[in-house]
Amino acid sequence: MGIDYLVCEVCGDAFPDVGYYGYCGGCESALCGGCVEDMGEKYGRVDPESEFAEDYGEESPCKCDECTKPKLDTEKFETLMYFLIKGAAKYDFAEFLENAGLTEKDYEDIEAYLKTTYGIKTY
Ligand SMILES: [Zn+2]
Ligand SMILES: [Zn+2]
Repeated sequence: MGIDYLVCEVCGDAFPDVGYYGYCGGCESALCGGCVEDMGEKYGRVDPESEFAEDYGEESPCKCDECTKPKLDTEKFETLMYFLIKGAAKYDFAEFLENAGLTEKDYEDIEAYLKTTYGIKTY
């Protein structure tokens, strides 16, 4: 027994599971009281007749910043990078970098970052 803490998916704050808090009607993430209010104003509230309102309350927002934020499709991004770099390499890749004001080291750093962060391989 005792108080459990949840982490708000939108602001990242931890809050106790007592008192006022809620869930997003879109992604069902836990939201602190303040974010329930903010997201409700921003995206509207769930249909009061819906099952979600019944389970989580009528003040639940339809969506939140978390589920509306654009997500990176790494596969498509990899494809884009591949064709961009391939296009650039068709002429002169060194010159391409120079025109962009980048050094080969800069490019290698970007490549390494994309690979370790997103698992994206560049050309
Ligand atoms: Zn919050
Ligand atoms: Zn959400």
